[in-house]
Amino acid sequence: MKIALITGGSRGIGRAACIKLAEMGFYILINYKNNEDAAKDVLESVKKTGSNGELIAFDVSNPDEVENALDNWKTNNNSKHISVLINNAGIRKDNLMIWLNKNEWNDVININLNSFYNITKHLLQDMMINRFGRIINVVSLSGIKGLPGQVNYSAAKAGVIGATKALAQEVGKKNVTVNAVAPGYIKTDMTKDLDEKELKRIIPANRFGSPEEVAHLIGFLASEESSYITGEVISINGGLYT
Ligand code: NAP
Repeated sequence: MKIALITGGSRGIGRAACIKLAEMGFYILINYKNNEDAAKDVLESVKKTGSNGELIAFDVSNPDEVENALDNWKTNNNSKHISVLINNAGIRKDNLMIWLNKNEWNDVININLNSFYNITKHLLQDMMINRFGRIINVVSLSGIKGLPGQVNYSAAKAGVIGATKALAQEVGKKNVTVNAVAPGYIKTDMTKDLDEKELKRIIPANRFGSPEEVAHLIGFLASEESSYITGEVISINGGLYT
């Protein structure tokens, strides 16, 4: 059984990635933090594809919670291993640097960047022993270009981009690939406070992207066919920044 863990799988891009990977035949571990109902709804959609999965609740920024949840799963699923990890859970707390408070900085760094360490560290050994793994980190245009009002978020995502490139070189020999996808503006809860009508003027594709479009790219990177792509950051932004 091929097993994929998607962090932040209850909503938005993570939700679409759960369904895409289920369509590809993966058993899906749907991580979430608060929204159990939304996560259950994703599980229903996963089952409709003919595949199956389960919920796994933990806060990606809390190393003890991550360890407990993944250790428990492993104890109950001794012979199985997670071969695909989508580090997707993320938040933004925008403010100009001059007003950016410690919590806004720390929360965004902990949830978007430290989560990469917490979860990847835990699953990497199994992938290396089994000589197959796909790690896909959902970063952002903000981490490539830097966006005003997002010094915290840009720093976190740029950190994950650096980690992606470094880790790819450490584990390439073991047939474990590590890539990042960098979305521009995608229609999810995270962007519902933004004015699409106004912003689409600066996007060559003249619209926000859909979570399903991002999930399609994630699905390709999770597949065996992507085996010679590693250490890459692939933008998916309607031409907004190239
Ligand atoms: P979203 O709709 O706000 O969904 C966020 C997901 O992350 C939810 O499933 C949420 O779980 C989960 N989550 C948040 N904090 C968590 C935590 N501490 N522990 C575990 N799960 C947590 O966001 P999205 O737009 O799909 O974004 C997904 C990823 O894409 C993020 O990394 C984001 O930075 C990145 N991204 C998004 C855009 C965009 O335009 N939307 C652009 C560039 C990059 P609950 O449901 O339990 O709260």
